[in-house]
Amino acid sequence: MVEHMSDCLFCRIASGELPSTPVAESELAFAFRDAAPQAPVHVLVIPKAHVTSAHTVSDVDAHVVGELVLLAQRVAAIEGIDGEDRGYRLVMNVGADANMSVPHLHLHVLGGRALGWPPG
Ligand code: AMP
Repeated sequence: MVEHMSDCLFCRIASGELPSTPVAESELAFAFRDAAPQAPVHVLVIPKAHVTSAHTVSDVDAHVVGELVLLAQRVAAIEGIDGEDRGYRLVMNVGADANMSVPHLHLHVLGGRALGWPPG
């Protein structure tokens, strides 16, 4: 039984209550296109059950972070950015200074062009 929070945007997307553009899913994670893409490929990978942020991950849900990375690998393959000459960036924002705007753990998968470093 997946625990959703009724007032959480990404819980409502994960449950299908709110629309999204899905890319892939696994038992524990769901991947969908970011509504305001910052790169040609910009997909969000979220746990289906609520976890607030990387900073609140505990022993109980630490395995979920690995699930997010595994699904991000599949997203990269689906999007064709996993070749040796390509690549992608995985980002988890935490808190105000990092501009975290949705308090439900999410991994940004960014790619499809050369990404600058350091980020702004
Ligand atoms: P962050 O700033 O790390 O919290 O990232 C939140 C991301 O969620 C932003 O890139 C938003 O563009 C994206 N976002 C917000 N609402 C939606 C939505 N309904 N569907 C898809 N992406 C969204």
